[in-house]
Amino acid sequence: MNELIAPKLPFDMKPRAREAVRDLKLQQFVGNATHLKDTQRGGIFGRDFGPDYDDLRTVARDTKQYALDHLDELLERFIANAEKSGAKVHAAATAADACAIALEIARAHAAKSCVKSKSMVTEEIGLLPAFEAAGITTLETDLGEFILQIDGDAPSHIVTPMIHKDRVATARSFVRELGARYTEDPTELTMIAREHMRGLYRAADLGVSGANFLLADEGSAVICTNEGNFDLSVGGPPVHIVFVGIEKLIRGARDLAPFLKLLARSGTAQPLTVYTSFVRGPRRAGEHGGPKEVHFVLVDAGRVGVLASEKRDLLRCIRCGACLNACPVYRKVGGHSYGSMYAGPIGAVLTPELERAQGGAGAGTSGAGLANYADLPRASSLCGACYEACPVKIDIPKFLMHDRARLRERGLSPKSEGATLALWRWLAERPALFRMAIGAVRLHARMLGQAEKTKDGGRAWLTSAPGPGAGWTQSRDLGIATGESFRDWFAGRGRSGASR
Ligand code: SF4
Repeated sequence: MNELIAPKLPFDMKPRAREAVRDLKLQQFVGNATHLKDTQRGGIFGRDFGPDYDDLRTVARDTKQYALDHLDELLERFIANAEKSGAKVHAAATAADACAIALEIARAHAAKSCVKSKSMVTEEIGLLPAFEAAGITTLETDLGEFILQIDGDAPSHIVTPMIHKDRVATARSFVRELGARYTEDPTELTMIAREHMRGLYRAADLGVSGANFLLADEGSAVICTNEGNFDLSVGGPPVHIVFVGIEKLIRGARDLAPFLKLLARSGTAQPLTVYTSFVRGPRRAGEHGGPKEVHFVLVDAGRVGVLASEKRDLLRCIRCGACLNACPVYRKVGGHSYGSMYAGPIGAVLTPELERAQGGAGAGTSGAGLANYADLPRASSLCGACYEACPVKIDIPKFLMHDRARLRERGLSPKSEGATLALWRWLAERPALFRMAIGAVRLHARMLGQAEKTKDGGRAWLTSAPGPGAGWTQSRDLGIATGESFRDWFAGRGRSGASR
């Protein structure tokens, strides 16, 4: 497993975050791309749905919640319908089981080479290292994943895995690893990758992919991509394996429309992904294309445990990546700082929960959950942007607060946090002292702020705060309140009776 997304536990986020904040290129690439996608997301939903956008989110939330509440029934229906189409369905309780199933299928076909389409769950279960150890060469066919593969790197965003790299880095990698001529032209770079891959699709013994949705009524998987690499991965090799988390189930095609409307718009501000492909079973008599064998590996790896917990809502996630693009913390620290293939706000709550629910059964897991990822719930400003962006209305800030409370109960919060809150409470219970303390802080901040440059219509900004505030101003300025305080305003309002 790549240590960037499967680090030694307990995981310490701070050194990675510090390094990311100092990395000017990463700041530029991740900051620009996420800001652009987030702005475009707002624009396309406003243009296409206007005030109905919230209703669409509500429908998607309720549809996914229904599926989670009836998961056992939908699983049975999916298995029956997929088998009717000639597919083979396997249940993998753990990551190790999922890899073992894949290796058994590969052995049965004496497979030595594999073409793989983008899939987060295969990252999660560690499929590539398992294939590598068994002598099976695997080619990542998603362009971003391919570049990361030849660089020995790991994805840092759910949807745009190489968000932290640019075309210069890609050009250098292609010269070094593929012997290509140097070019920074995106079309030429794509053509180089395409040329490298084309023959390998035809020669591969095995195709592997993930899936965005499983349709219980049809026994099919739905795969949304932009590059067409999935269709080649399923169309070329004689055997195809779809790895999919059980939470991807919905009732059927009748429930698919809201998700297709939301998925690409939320992730990349496209009305639809370029390809929306369906996989059902192997090729039928008279058909010329498609695999002769199709396997679905339904992965639990902690999901049943999450479903039984108070965090079951997290399983509604459709991996659109919108919460990452909207998050001010993700934009600064990038994906590798989270130590998981699931980065950003959803990763901050899902990673510890999946780890806990696996109880040590997953690769590199111990089951300690939050204790292993104590930094993640604190990697948030609790601004609520992730909830606003989420197409299935997962209340991520609520779960972040929940985890912070659990950390505190278990004595896993920094001592300074407890002391600060205790001091705050002590002061808040003594109004006269509280007023004096707030007045002193305002006076001190104003003195510091006035020594700094003044901008923004006369408002003072502090560019380097002293003591514990230094961390805050390391990567942003702190606005100093120079006007009337709320308490003064409120008292004056009461006297004048004015409503302002
Ligand atoms: S939590 Fe919501 S916004 Fe974030 S990836 Fe999942 S579905 Fe998208």
